[in-house]
Amino acid sequence: MDNSSHRAGTLVVTLGRDPHANLGAVSPPLYRASTVLFKSVDAFVNEWNDAPRAFPYGRLGTPTTFDFAEAMATLEGGHRSALFPSGLAAISTTLLALLGTGDHILVPDSVYGPVRELCDAMLPRMGIRTSYYLPGSVDSLRSEWTDRTKVVYVESPGSLTFEMQDVPAIAQWARANGARVAMDNSWATPLLFKPFSHGVDVSIHAGTKYIAGHSDAFIGIATATAEAWPALHAAAMATGQTASPDDVWLAQRGLRTLAVRLARHERDGIMLAGWLQRQPEVARVLHPGLEGCPGHAIWKRDYLGSSGLFGVVFKFPAAPALRNKWSALDSLLERLTLFGIGASWGGYESLVYPSYRFLKRSAGQQADVQALIRVHVGLEDPDDLIADWQQAFDSWRSDYSSLSHPEGVSA
Ligand SMILES: *Cc1c(COP(=O)(O)O)cnc(C)c1O
Repeated sequence: MDNSSHRAGTLVVTLGRDPHANLGAVSPPLYRASTVLFKSVDAFVNEWNDAPRAFPYGRLGTPTTFDFAEAMATLEGGHRSALFPSGLAAISTTLLALLGTGDHILVPDSVYGPVRELCDAMLPRMGIRTSYYLPGSVDSLRSEWTDRTKVVYVESPGSLTFEMQDVPAIAQWARANGARVAMDNSWATPLLFKPFSHGVDVSIHAGTKYIAGHSDAFIGIATATAEAWPALHAAAMATGQTASPDDVWLAQRGLRTLAVRLARHERDGIMLAGWLQRQPEVARVLHPGLEGCPGHAIWKRDYLGSSGLFGVVFKFPAAPALRNKWSALDSLLERLTLFGIGASWGGYESLVYPSYRFLKRSAGQQADVQALIRVHVGLEDPDDLIADWQQAFDSWRSDYSSLSHPEGVSA
């Protein structure tokens, strides 16, 4: 089918799906396979090639994974996509593909936490060095540059602190200095940011989040330019990275509703972020799509919309009498009934995440990001979501009234 004139909302419905090749079934069948049989030795031997739908053995993909990978490559505007058992596997394999002994990688200080483990614990064993740069500063990136810098990693907005990065400026610098750019594009999904129009070489998604969209599957996707694809593909094949067809099938099913889900996540996310910003205990909200928030200008210039994930910085109550310094914030989150406490995001249900318990920075950070939480706005009725926060604040204020009184607050 020629999709070239279709918009994203149509493409997520039509891509990677051919009913009349499947007895008319609207949703494609699920192909699970390890062994694939051939009628001749020649046919079997010839199937071991790099063609997009080569099917010699299930680890290299099945029709289910080929369909989804092609849909993702088209949506992202890249050459081809490789699928992985998790977002983190897509990241680690991309870095292994692009780096070698003696190389140096620049990583933003706001990177998804587990990537730090990879860079600090695993890569040094292969003689690969990591420096962390301030995510909002191209100057910081330049000052950490070495003649062995081969990859600049970007994640915009950053995990937990939501700094926006100037991806075109970073990519321009990297290109001019002989390095490739790998980007974690999970927050924006393929619909809200177009990495290959902004100079990125490999775009990575934790499809576990918005793309699968139902908190029940793991999938990673890495899409490359034609130039970067052979290295990425070779690394994925050599390390046996493969995605379960069952999870890929769930991801392609999630893709069908991605555009409508995102529109709702965006609308209600902006609404709740604005409401939280007006609460006296809130110092500021970190939502790039909300006017007045940090990074809004870059978001407006480069992004096509926002998703439903943002940060909230509290005026932390100075509370020497409390058991530990986080008791007041723990207690606020535990009073919410529609916002579950848990990791991940991008599903249909609302979540809060106690970032203040996990935040880790090394290149410097502002002091007031300490009392930080992350909110994921799900698909529940927005009036119920506001009412849930209202009841949580009401009972919390009465229990912690001395703390939430202005004198008890240290901004
Ligand atoms: C969750 C997450 C990942 C990792 O995805 P998994 O599928 O859980 O491995 C990567 N990047 C970001 C920004 C994430 O939030």
